[in-house]
Amino acid sequence: MTLSCTGIGIGTSRGTAIGQAHLLQRGRLELMPRYISREEVPDEVDRFRQAVSEAQRQLRAVQKKIPESTPSDIVAFIDTHLLMLNDAALVEVPINRIREQHCSAEWALQMQRNELAQVFDAMEDPYLRTRKDDVDHVVNRIQQRLLQLEEEDPEELKGKIILAQDLTPADAILMRHWGIAAFITEYGGPMSHTAILARSLGIPAVVGVRHATRCLRHGEQLIVDGEQGVVLAAVDDDTLSQYRSRIEAARLQTAELRRLIGQPAVTRDGRAIRLMANIELPEDIERTRSLGAEGVGLYRTEYLYMNRNAPPDEAEHYRAYLEVIQGLDGIPVTIRTLDLGVDKQIDGAYARDEQVCNPALGLRAIRLCLKEPRLFLPQLRAILRVAAQGPVRIMIPMLSTLREVYQLKGLIEQTKRSLARDGLPFDPDIQTGGMIEVPAAALSADAFARELDFLSIGTNDLIQYTLAIDRIDDAVNYLYDPLHPSVLRLIQMVIDAGRRQRIPVSMCGEMAGDPRHIPLLLGMGLTELSMQPGALLVAKRTLRNLDAARLIRQVGELMPSIDAPESADRLSRVLREAS
Ligand code: PEP
Ligand code: MG
Repeated sequence: MTLSCTGIGIGTSRGTAIGQAHLLQRGRLELMPRYISREEVPDEVDRFRQAVSEAQRQLRAVQKKIPESTPSDIVAFIDTHLLMLNDAALVEVPINRIREQHCSAEWALQMQRNELAQVFDAMEDPYLRTRKDDVDHVVNRIQQRLLQLEEEDPEELKGKIILAQDLTPADAILMRHWGIAAFITEYGGPMSHTAILARSLGIPAVVGVRHATRCLRHGEQLIVDGEQGVVLAAVDDDTLSQYRSRIEAARLQTAELRRLIGQPAVTRDGRAIRLMANIELPEDIERTRSLGAEGVGLYRTEYLYMNRNAPPDEAEHYRAYLEVIQGLDGIPVTIRTLDLGVDKQIDGAYARDEQVCNPALGLRAIRLCLKEPRLFLPQLRAILRVAAQGPVRIMIPMLSTLREVYQLKGLIEQTKRSLARDGLPFDPDIQTGGMIEVPAAALSADAFARELDFLSIGTNDLIQYTLAIDRIDDAVNYLYDPLHPSVLRLIQMVIDAGRRQRIPVSMCGEMAGDPRHIPLLLGMGLTELSMQPGALLVAKRTLRNLDAARLIRQVGELMPSIDAPESADRLSRVLREAS
């Protein structure tokens, strides 16, 4: 077997895919001032006009392909952008600059963009201020044409393996709709939201493949092994057929696992474990129901705010949540309030403009919600209203101080009063829970447990904050260790606090859906696990083979000295024997 090129990265999902590479241009265009001679001016003006008409042609082509179901604000976007491509401010003014200042078309356009941005920034009216974003989109589109960068055509991406320096969660959502086979990025860690989304969407992905966009060629055939974190290029026929067989074997294994649907999630010694799903997109509803999840332990709502230019209003929140609870037909749903910030950024005009040095430690999740009621209150009202229509709980991300809980409770009471005044039905007794994902909250878990109705351990962030490693930075990814003694101690503290205060504790971080960790979690006393729907059946198969009482005894003996050097070996032995 001969391989002429192999890339190693971090596998982020289970699948394997074979397909053609498609190099995706992403990110900001770095433009430098460039000046031309007087003789070159007419050609430069022509080049600019041609780029504008190509941009118009592209947008008209997109307009024709818009599916009927596309939200009207996205359709309106394209109309606005087409109008702007005819606007003198974006067409005639740059041409005058080329003629008068002898600058390149790119630079003339960039200078005009900067001037317009200043005008928009100075506007009092927040709506008008947000139009700056449209200017950027249109300018970017013309710049791409000037630089002859390829435009992605969703039709062409079907079945392709996307190769990019980095992708945002918003990109991953769009790609799911485009039907891509897999993706490879140069940056990012397995706990980034993009990687989590890839797992949940069932897209094989390898992240952190250094220099991938330079070493792999657009159009060549690739194999992506999302489990091992391997990318193969220029493969021979033997390798191809081995991987084809592997894809077929995975398909059969899935069929085998499906026999567990309808079987109880109970350990060998009879302990019932509540297996719940983490959902994010409307598409997850059907899988959650058909795979037999007992509930939704985490409904991430950030997708509602992405790929758009204005935050969703109450009616849109309400419609989205109603669709989920109706689709889930009585399965209880835990709606997590907005957790924007860090890598789950919004790129719409209502995004924050200033650069933040440490976004993971900044204004994200509940902090942002308490600061920006216009983003949060429509969501809160919609959750309270939808809870009158079905079993819904509310869950707050990234709590770090009790003050946030008190403020939140105040807001919930105030929202109830305003709904009552408006004569709208709502659930006055909605259960309110908190995510424990900051060490400070884990250390004070008893206090949080006294104030809240349930807790859920968000290990993705808890590990990031405990070990001081950025979950999206592949350079420190080797330190990301769910079994680090301090992480285990914090998890144990939360489980124990829940038991003492008699409230349920679940786990909804990625650790909960990893079959290697399930024996340990059961041994620590957890009985509620929430994971991406695709992991539910493997988790069920794992726990049905476990003896919970024995694990509780063994792990209980280990925990007091978990940071002793020999404990790691003893723990691996316990977990090996259990599986
Ligand atoms: C977590 O942090 O574990 C979690 C479930 O939340 P998210 O991954 O959305 O930050
Ligand atoms: Mg989190």
